[in-house]
Amino acid sequence: MASPMSAGKFLAGLKAEGLTVVEVGDWEHHNRNHKGPWGPVHGVMIHHTVTKGSERTVTLCRDGYADLPGPLCHGVITKDGRVHLVGYGRANHAGLGDDDVLRAVISEKALPHDNETNTDGNRHFYGFECENLGDGKDPWPAVQLEAIEKAAAAICRHHGWTERSVIGHLEWQPGKVDPRGFTMASMRERIRERLK
Ligand SMILES: [Zn+2]
Repeated sequence: MASPMSAGKFLAGLKAEGLTVVEVGDWEHHNRNHKGPWGPVHGVMIHHTVTKGSERTVTLCRDGYADLPGPLCHGVITKDGRVHLVGYGRANHAGLGDDDVLRAVISEKALPHDNETNTDGNRHFYGFECENLGDGKDPWPAVQLEAIEKAAAAICRHHGWTERSVIGHLEWQPGKVDPRGFTMASMRERIRERLK
């Protein structure tokens, strides 16, 4: 059971991990808290955006769409490895997922296959959207993968979580494929090493 860290601690933690952070507008107060609860938090979720162009990607993740209002995550990790903070609090990134997966994340056990959409993920996960077309061909620059590793590790470090608290959207919600182009197992291994 963990309360979300303050926006200030979130920012400080990312910087302490060595990340280049860009604060976008009034990110600390841009959220969906009026639509539902935020917290307790149990993990970190990684996504790809299916977009091209950093500026456009950041704007989209901050504003969202007509039928899916932003913020669509907390931080956008662009191909240059920068983390753009677009919101803080409840964000529209995780949607409904599998309660068995959430239980595994909480107890930091191996993940079961996700086959249900019965649990509000926006309440329980920090979210990072990563700039990539998600077609399996668009490359993931080393500096971007390193930023994903650092951002997830910063949150785990604050909460005392292991790498098992970091999952991909595809491990949460049936039908999702993100992130595509690297495996979450490989990313968790990197986070494990970093947290040592
Ligand atoms: Zn996603």
